[in-house]
Amino acid sequence: MRIVALSGGVGGARFLRGLARATDPADVTVIGNVGDDVEILGMHVSPDLDSILYALGGVSDDERGWGRADESWTAFEEASRLGGESWFQLGDRDLGLHLVRTQRLAAGEPLSAVTADLARAFGVEAKLLPATDDRLRTWIDTPGASFPFQEWFVARRHRDEVDRVRFEGEDEARPAPGVIEAIEQAELIVICPSNPFISIWPILAVAEIRAAVERRRVPSVAVSPLIGGRAIKGPADRMLERLAGGTDPGRVAGCYADAIDVLVFDETDARFARNVEDRGVRPVVTQTLMRDAEAATALAAAVLAGV
Ligand code: GDP
Ligand code: CA
Repeated sequence: MRIVALSGGVGGARFLRGLARATDPADVTVIGNVGDDVEILGMHVSPDLDSILYALGGVSDDERGWGRADESWTAFEEASRLGGESWFQLGDRDLGLHLVRTQRLAAGEPLSAVTADLARAFGVEAKLLPATDDRLRTWIDTPGASFPFQEWFVARRHRDEVDRVRFEGEDEARPAPGVIEAIEQAELIVICPSNPFISIWPILAVAEIRAAVERRRVPSVAVSPLIGGRAIKGPADRMLERLAGGTDPGRVAGCYADAIDVLVFDETDARFARNVEDRGVRPVVTQTLMRDAEAATALAAAVLAGV
């Protein structure tokens, strides 16, 4: 079955690792969020694409929860000592990738071409596409000020409440080559258990991507990133509470209006199935905590079985 999966970083990547085991990864095209992309020390960093690359390439650091395994920090420590930007940590191996990407982007190559080569280098069998090659950047409006995404997320540790999420460049952004074809040729669309507002919305902010998803003739399934109304990590629960009025699975389904037919959510929240149905979305209840690779594979299998 040909599958297209919309994904943010860590939560999405964990699920994708399961999906790549539950099905033939060669049948999977991942569309990754680039709203998080940021320039650090002159380098173009694509955190969500890299989380996917590292997870599917089998080189992610599962204990730290982000970045590469077997990482060292010599270059970063030296840059910090010399007064360089130090609010966004970059490991040595990670830096090597950013150097290659930045150099090729500066030479005029599109992000999608660079990403495809990196995926090959990491032995990733699934196809990984950035949502867009154009500049698309997430901004966070808070009561006090507006912040570029990473300044809010990393530097301020997402402590400010969020009034609104905006995507700079969304009016001009075109889908990267292959994105629309992948959606049109897919037999199943999956929205990974990522943060709806800051990982999935920036993908759907590309108008042609949203339109392609909305005119689908195949099922679209989202996996909720919340369990018992709480995010495993990160601000998804606080954002749902403030921006969607609550954290039950019905509110998660509401984030994906017109983009999904099915919502997979945790059995802890089974009593809220009616709220999902009220949105015109079919509820599928299962265990959604991806404790390890086996649990992620079981979740992916449940998603495939649920459609
Ligand atoms: P980011 O871009 O690195 O922030 O990652 P994503 O947006 O892809 O994923 C973040 C979301 O993943 C958070 O809201 C978490 O609640 C969710 N998440 C992480 N681990 C799990 C898990 O085991 N199960 C489920 N259902 N969600 C998870
Ligand atoms: Ca992200």
